[in-house]
Amino acid sequence: MLRWLRPAEFHKTVWQVDGAKLVSRGVVAVLVDLDNTIVEYRQYRTSDALEKWIAGLKSHGLRICIVSNSRRQALAASLGAHIDVPVITRAGKPSRRALRRAMAMLGAGPSETAVIGDQVFTDILAGNRLGCHTILVSPLSRHEFPGTRLVRILERFVLRSLKIDQEAVPPDHVQ
Ligand SMILES: [Mg+2]
Repeated sequence: MLRWLRPAEFHKTVWQVDGAKLVSRGVVAVLVDLDNTIVEYRQYRTSDALEKWIAGLKSHGLRICIVSNSRRQALAASLGAHIDVPVITRAGKPSRRALRRAMAMLGAGPSETAVIGDQVFTDILAGNRLGCHTILVSPLSRHEFPGTRLVRILERFVLRSLKIDQEAVPPDHVQ
């Protein structure tokens, strides 16, 4: 069970995920979560940190898609348009369907795709089910969907077993 939930990498903030390192692992496509991964929960606006990070990934030739379980399609699409990254909402992770769709769109297979997110039971599980390179990050805020808070209780047990300390990190925390 833990094998499906274990991320290949963990970072305190998404901004530490380095494009050059991904490329050196053979990664060509990055599927990144939205809420609490690149923006605070339901705060769908850009930030300097986000724009710098996206530009860095693109400078290494990485193809990017935001894959989110959010239902706020219009707001998410408008953020995506602003940073020139396609967005898939209502992804239903840990279902693999939306991730497969994103990979097909970006022309990448699972072994050359990184899946990044702040939740073990959605982002990491979906990515691991496909055999992608999975990267867990700390959530950008403590605000989240009430259902998520319940899942976090379970998640804490998993992370403790995996010896990962996933504490929320403020959004402008750039290292
Ligand atoms: Mg999230």
